[in-house]
Amino acid sequence: MTDSVHWDENGQPVSMHFDDVYFSKADGLQESRYVFQQHNQLEQRFRQLTAGEHFVVGETGFGTGLNFLACWQQWDQCAATAARLHYISTEKHPLSPEQLARSLQLWPELNRYSDPLLRWYKRSLCDRGSAVTLYFKRNNIHLTLLVGDATQGLAAQLGEHHPQQGKPVAYWHGVDAWFLDGFAPAKNPDMWSLPLCKTLAALSRKHTTFATFTAAGQVKRHLQDCGFEVKKVPGFGKKRDMLCGKFTPTSNNKNENKKANKKTVFHWTQVDNFQALAQTSHIAIIGAGLAGCHSAYALAKKGFKVSVIDRHCRLANEGSGNPQGILYSKLSADQGKLGEFNLAALLLAQEMYRDFWQAHPYSGQNNGVLQLGHDEKILSINQQIAQTFGNSPFVRLLNPQQASEQAGLALNQSALFFPFCGWLNPTAVCRWLTQSPNIKLLTHTSVEKLDFLKSSEQWSLNGQQHSQQWQQTFDAVVIANAGDAQQFEQSLWLPTKKIRGQITYIAKDPVLKPLNTNICARGYISPLTQDENRLPFHAIGASFNLNNFNTALSDQDHRDNLAHLQRVLPQVKHPAILGGRVGFRCTSPDYLPLVGSLPDIRAFESDFLGFSHNAKQLINKQGQYHRHLYLNVAHGSKGLNYTPLAGAIIAHRIAGEPPPCSQTVVDSVNPARFIIRRIVRAKTK
Ligand code: SAM
Repeated sequence: MTDSVHWDENGQPVSMHFDDVYFSKADGLQESRYVFQQHNQLEQRFRQLTAGEHFVVGETGFGTGLNFLACWQQWDQCAATAARLHYISTEKHPLSPEQLARSLQLWPELNRYSDPLLRWYKRSLCDRGSAVTLYFKRNNIHLTLLVGDATQGLAAQLGEHHPQQGKPVAYWHGVDAWFLDGFAPAKNPDMWSLPLCKTLAALSRKHTTFATFTAAGQVKRHLQDCGFEVKKVPGFGKKRDMLCGKFTPTSNNKNENKKANKKTVFHWTQVDNFQALAQTSHIAIIGAGLAGCHSAYALAKKGFKVSVIDRHCRLANEGSGNPQGILYSKLSADQGKLGEFNLAALLLAQEMYRDFWQAHPYSGQNNGVLQLGHDEKILSINQQIAQTFGNSPFVRLLNPQQASEQAGLALNQSALFFPFCGWLNPTAVCRWLTQSPNIKLLTHTSVEKLDFLKSSEQWSLNGQQHSQQWQQTFDAVVIANAGDAQQFEQSLWLPTKKIRGQITYIAKDPVLKPLNTNICARGYISPLTQDENRLPFHAIGASFNLNNFNTALSDQDHRDNLAHLQRVLPQVKHPAILGGRVGFRCTSPDYLPLVGSLPDIRAFESDFLGFSHNAKQLINKQGQYHRHLYLNVAHGSKGLNYTPLAGAIIAHRIAGEPPPCSQTVVDSVNPARFIIRRIVRAKTK
């Protein structure tokens, strides 16, 4: 976070670091409307959008968020109610929440927009000194804030492996309008560099527009060199000129000429046959647990018709059926793939469930989660996490005394505390997610076979409904039935495993009465909840049994669960065991879920066979994926945490919209990674 802001005589922020103003001293809001909105023709373009369409604005330099909020206001005034705005912005030196609030007080007419933005910013701003992607959503407005250097942040939106001269990621069409706003070029040349302009070009498509307050010659030349047609027009206020224009990739410019001789470089993560689905499409989701219901929710919000199909008589009957689940996240001090996915998932989940907790106070509580440093290794990991995320509002390290105060019970260990987490009843969450009139639930229906119909480009689902033969066609299918996903011919190869977990219900105990948060160590415990007969109990758990598929309750597992609890809370002596529940987690070999288009294994094995000789070689091919067949499985014991992000990734992809996280995170959960790894490993055998 930046501490180098001072406030001028009119209460406007000035960067001491760059010795420049965030917006025109004369009138920042009018400047934003004139420079960025008018010269990108936003009003007309927003008015032309129809329901289900979307528009992408890209910005360099989020600063106080003024441009974003003004754009949101313009959108509200002009765009169709069921269209969606994606605003992707970058910020290397984010303002603190207090600085942002102070800056935005200058614009009372934007309060309806700045209030929710600020609320989110205060809970989510993550400043760990390295790149982070933050995501804010309010109705049809999506903000992706790339905290870090603009060039790097925007390049990551092209996907991990895509060279900068490549096309924008195949499943979203690129930015429609750029706001180039990064302090004066003389004071901050990094924001106007040639590599940055190349990245802007890579994320643009034909006739993407841009506007900027500056008319600097170097900026003009860089933009022209990268394929933008540039016009000089009168600037705002005292500024004589500014630049605007559009991306015309065929224009006669230096970089384009060089590029013409270069072939586009493809990568296996790119889907060969992708085309966004029309809003009238009908999508089947197989599995009515958290993964299926979050996918349904995100798709229904976009206006798709969704059928959630399950063999049971109700929602959340299997792995997602425990009465209490904890929103639990495993952050990481390093920037590995798992840590990045966990961070993105946590930030999204804590926002999403905030609404649930408000609406369902008896089916969960936003009462925080303590992750105890219960052994030397975890203690050291917790300390590293606290150092990395020390300034972030969503996690802090508590010493044993503070942890005890937070828990209401004496604890001997320090702990990470996640104030925006808590416990939820997953069945109630699933019900809440599937309320939309766009969602239909087909119970007692088991899907046995998926056939692609070439003539109509649809999927025919075949199976049983109420023990009768059943068949129905859909435009797309999301497989979200956890450990049973391997049952289809197309997904037989999945490397997922089922891991048995048993929880134990213990009776109300006076010792546990003061417990007012959720405690996680080897096991976990939450405050009291009630069963369907209103009898109070605590759920504790969960055992971890590999290669055990027994659905009956085991006394040994109950004893193990109690032993884990007593290690943390020895004051709990002999609680009465009321019962328990057995479920099966579905996990993957790298603990990341499998989310996204389902690869065609035969095509992959032949197209990328070359990796078995040389894993580093360039195989210039897109991956072949089953058309509009998606996977959302392997969330392990983190279903509550992972599935909001996973569902949103799937829905954004089906609609052809930019992802709710970085493209690198999307690539990290691509199911095809396991086919590629298998090919690569075959080499060493
Ligand atoms: N658009 C902003 C608004 O509406 O308030 C004002 C932007 S201000 C003129 C420029 C912003 O760019 C500053 O917040 C600054 O920290 C940020 N910035 C400067 N260099 C950057 C870089 N290399 N990458 C990302 N952001 C950068």
